[in-house]
Amino acid sequence: MQAAVMSSSKEVVHNAAKEFLHFVNRGVSPYHVVEECKARLCLAGFKELKESDHWDIKPASKYFVTRNYSTIIAFAVGGNYQPSNGFSMIGAHTDSPCLKVKLRSKKTRQGCLQVGVECYGGGIWNTWFDRDLSLAGRVIVKTGDALKQHLVHIKRPILRIPHLAIHLQRDINDSFGPNKENHLVPILATAVQEELETGTSSSGDASSALKMSEKHHPVLLSLLCSELGIEVDSILDFELCLCDTQPATLGGAFEEFIFSPRLDNLHSCYCALQALIESCTPEGSLAKEPNIRVVTLYDNEEVGSESAQGAMSSLTEIVLRRLACSFKNLAAFEEAIPKSYLISADMAHAVHPNYQDKHEENHRPMFHKGPVIKYNSCQRYATTAVTASIIREIAKMVNVPLQEFMVRNDSPCGTTIGPIISSKLGLRVLDLGCPQLAMHSIREMCCTSGVYQTITLFKGFFEHYPAVSHCVQVD
Ligand code: ZN
Repeated sequence: MQAAVMSSSKEVVHNAAKEFLHFVNRGVSPYHVVEECKARLCLAGFKELKESDHWDIKPASKYFVTRNYSTIIAFAVGGNYQPSNGFSMIGAHTDSPCLKVKLRSKKTRQGCLQVGVECYGGGIWNTWFDRDLSLAGRVIVKTGDALKQHLVHIKRPILRIPHLAIHLQRDINDSFGPNKENHLVPILATAVQEELETGTSSSGDASSALKMSEKHHPVLLSLLCSELGIEVDSILDFELCLCDTQPATLGGAFEEFIFSPRLDNLHSCYCALQALIESCTPEGSLAKEPNIRVVTLYDNEEVGSESAQGAMSSLTEIVLRRLACSFKNLAAFEEAIPKSYLISADMAHAVHPNYQDKHEENHRPMFHKGPVIKYNSCQRYATTAVTASIIREIAKMVNVPLQEFMVRNDSPCGTTIGPIISSKLGLRVLDLGCPQLAMHSIREMCCTSGVYQTITLFKGFFEHYPAVSHCVQVD
């Protein structure tokens, strides 16, 4: 255990972790994540910009912009910013693997009203069985001529995917994986109970449905409508994620763990946002800052980032160009890129005590030992010796320990937005994240100290990167 951050009081570590619990409990869909980030940014004095408006960006000022309401970019312009100065950036993603309600979700089997769902991303789908599930997302509602978005989160458990009893599948513990089309269909109600409660039966499917009210079970639509105070006929469309109703919590005998959904990657989103906000308080260092500090939180990373709001889109370049653009220097953006740096913040795999051989013996990140630099020379991660050296210098300044990760040669390797952004923009990128277990399970696990360590490191990055980058002599 090392220096200041490792020996920080349990109280400081717990307070940071508990604030993260609020964030993750509210971030039930990418839209809710953006909503929560917006609220925190507004409270900290950031101003909202619209992509379609003219931007009048001032030094020593703070802004944010959203796209599709599922991606958000926040930035703080240094008091000493000049066009062609660099961008100090941290990127993460707002989406997590989940089940989403299908376009025509109405299904009835054996007297059970069921909801058709689509798999989003690479979830460990067997963890979605026997959980108390609900729905969260957005509904597009017609009000007069206006098409408005309403966020919805039903907080009580309304859906369930029950396991098949062990007696009917003795080999379940050998082959632990459902058929994604047939076995993952949640139960909403029984036809018998529906008839008792409403006097009608909606049994059947949606194959010949024409209207919204025929595509989904009426009881599902009426749950949405009563939550939002609207009529069924005003719903044009929706995007709804299934989510666990069990809130994130501290755990373990010493409360040193976080048991939570969506750690990948709301942990990184939260730490990046919090570091930006804390580095820009009136007592902070923004007044003397030469760079623009940027946090980019993208949707659709879990499905390859190829969307209008994903890391693969032109959004990042468009925003950075708008910030760099100057009538006096038409090459300000091109000059800024080599001075810039992005931390691609995404969670890392802690070594699993029951599967230690899955990690290469010299690269086994552990809980409490610091954020993990991720390397892969085949470019599944974008870290280079230069970008790692820069973060090592900064980590030393702010007393945050670092760990290192490489996959075994005989193991598949995950990837992040890091290689996408570095190859599209030609930017220096580092891949880094906190160690966690059970990545892509509905209920993941990490350690409490990671939140405080990561916020401290990211804040240190915003404050020290311009000075450290001046010392780098590699072009
Ligand atoms: Zn991730």
